[in-house]
Amino acid sequence: MKKVLVFGGTHGNEFTGVWIVEKYAEFFKKKYPTLRLEFILANPEAHKINKRFKDEDLNRAFQFLHEKRPDSFEHHRARELRDMVLKEECFVIDLHTTTSAMGKTIILTDYNPLVLWLGQELAAKMSDARVIGSPDPNKKYLASQVPSSLMIEVGPVANGLLDPVVFEGTVALLDQILLSLSVAPASPKGEVELYVEVEDVKYPLDEKGQISAYIHSGFQGKDFVKIEGNYTPFRRFSGEEITSKTLGPRYPIFINEAAYYPQKLAYTLCEKTLKKF
Ligand SMILES: [Zn+2]
Repeated sequence: MKKVLVFGGTHGNEFTGVWIVEKYAEFFKKKYPTLRLEFILANPEAHKINKRFKDEDLNRAFQFLHEKRPDSFEHHRARELRDMVLKEECFVIDLHTTTSAMGKTIILTDYNPLVLWLGQELAAKMSDARVIGSPDPNKKYLASQVPSSLMIEVGPVANGLLDPVVFEGTVALLDQILLSLSVAPASPKGEVELYVEVEDVKYPLDEKGQISAYIHSGFQGKDFVKIEGNYTPFRRFSGEEITSKTLGPRYPIFINEAAYYPQKLAYTLCEKTLKKF
């Protein structure tokens, strides 16, 4: 029997994953008896205080496990979670939401045939779902600790909120992934359309290093809308528009994600590719 670990609340203020872990564990265990399903609240301390994290971002902490960080709850928790997923062979699903208007997505950090096949199945069964490729060479994400894994990322929803569309969309994505996992072939083959992250775009900064422009009203909410050539992502607080240019077709994601302001990250550009496996 395949062991599947479903994590929610890796970011404590993303309520959708927390509530799926708390309210849907028994439903999915009954529905998929051929899977050994476990549901885990990944960051209970951050959820208690309704924050993304307590001491450091748990979903970046895995890259620092070689360091000593005795005062960090997430450092300690990342060790526990890594031990949990490495104990025996398992498939890892990590539930996330975004304030960006990305709709229903899954994010792959490893391009092995099983996860690519799950992406292909998902795109075939749910026409509004997309598959993002986000290779993670530093293994900073929880999902990157094992090759058989993916993140579910749905938006837009504010942090600390259950939005019915985002909540039901996440349940539907999880349901489809579990259904596919329960019937996955031993040697999957096929091809899948991937949106592969190629460039992080930062906000324009002033001479003091402060953000000097905001997302343009014509760009807000345009996640996955194709850009080719000139486009206008920002407006300065003085009113002036800022244009930019791509060298080929690009697809923006995570436009105006609330959690990325500290890093001054405005959005990420993807290239669309057909991945054979
Ligand atoms: Zn998250």
